[in-house]
Amino acid sequence: MRQIFSTELLGHLPPRKNSTEVRIKKSQLPKVAHATTSLNQLDQHITNCFACPRLVTWREEIAITKRKAYLDQDYWGKPISGFGSNKPRMLIIGLAPGAHGANRTGRVFTGDPSGDWLFGSLHRIGIAKIGTSIHKDDKQELKHTRITTAVRCAPPDNKPSNDERDTCAPWLLREFELALPTTRAFVGLGSFAWSALFTTLRELGHPLTTTKFGHGAEFRYRHEGVDYLLIASYHPSQQNTFTGKLTTTMLDSVLKKAAKFSQSVG
Ligand code: SF4
Repeated sequence: MRQIFSTELLGHLPPRKNSTEVRIKKSQLPKVAHATTSLNQLDQHITNCFACPRLVTWREEIAITKRKAYLDQDYWGKPISGFGSNKPRMLIIGLAPGAHGANRTGRVFTGDPSGDWLFGSLHRIGIAKIGTSIHKDDKQELKHTRITTAVRCAPPDNKPSNDERDTCAPWLLREFELALPTTRAFVGLGSFAWSALFTTLRELGHPLTTTKFGHGAEFRYRHEGVDYLLIASYHPSQQNTFTGKLTTTMLDSVLKKAAKFSQSVG
């Protein structure tokens, strides 16, 4: 997609509904993230993040220019928080929101084919209430599972810079910390998420050795008396699903294994 970074266009952004909105800057982010005491609170703070100038510009420009098919819709155009259980047994991590998916609908993996693949699979294995993920008011629910992303704003060409990845990392770190009392299985969708998963858990003191990314790659370990499983899947992007690199059977198999493990350990 062509990148449009026009300050003239940004000057025509619609006024934000909440004029008292707090805008979290890069220098404040780690402290704000660390101070959150619940996943609900974390989700709210993430929505107010303005730490990455390039991604803020991009998410807002996409929300104005829109895709032709969605011209009649209001785009979300803000960061995307996690979705699902606040006491998850299984945590699924993707790369970043899609420009016309989550950045439009306001919910992770919602409104694009990747979301339909992921929620379709979760529905087949009994985790998601419905098998599609079209909009955030669809009454979708996840059993014992939460979905999140390593970077919370849609990046141009789905490629966040290393600096943007690192700037966003405290949100993921805190999300893991708050979820860890119940989470036992982690699923990394794609190599970027797989790497973020290892980095984050290492930062929390988990004894992880490097495990090469590949579909079905897994790492099992025990830490402070608790058993964990990390497992990888190819990302359900169209690039992988159209070409047959990732099939529904392959995705179902990884998610089923993670869900089963997460329910079977203490
Ligand atoms: S990518 Fe993360 S750190 Fe950067 S603006 Fe979005 S939410 Fe904030």
